[in-house]
Amino acid sequence: MSKVTELTCIRCPIGCAITVTQDDEGKVTEITGNSCQNGYLYAGNEVTNPTRIVTSTVRVDGGELPVVSVKTSGDIPKGRMFDCMKAINKVHVKAPVSIGDVVLKDVLGLGVDIVATKNVGARRQGQAEGADIG
Ligand code: SF4
Repeated sequence: MSKVTELTCIRCPIGCAITVTQDDEGKVTEITGNSCQNGYLYAGNEVTNPTRIVTSTVRVDGGELPVVSVKTSGDIPKGRMFDCMKAINKVHVKAPVSIGDVVLKDVLGLGVDIVATKNVGARRQGQAEGADIG
């Protein structure tokens, strides 16, 4: 007996409603409702091996801002997101931080790094942490 899964594609804001049909062994036999190849790939992965990009923040020591936004450099298994967030929460980096800096290499041995997505300069002398530097 085949299994039918209804999904909303999250690869772009359009949010196409996609239907995935799998056979008894879980093999994808049909994908409909997608408007592009990205949605086709997303839907196929979502029912067999769901993955996500993780975004978060990391504490910055001595920065003009207290934290820097970060994300995984690629998809990780959806089931490892919580562990990934716990690993990210333990990280402190020293200012300055530049976009693309690796703040945590090979998180959880998944072959994916945690990288900065914002520049955070070093705090100037006398400047309070998180102060507006206008
Ligand atoms: S199928 Fe393509 S167009 Fe539709 S939401 Fe997904 S990425 Fe966007």
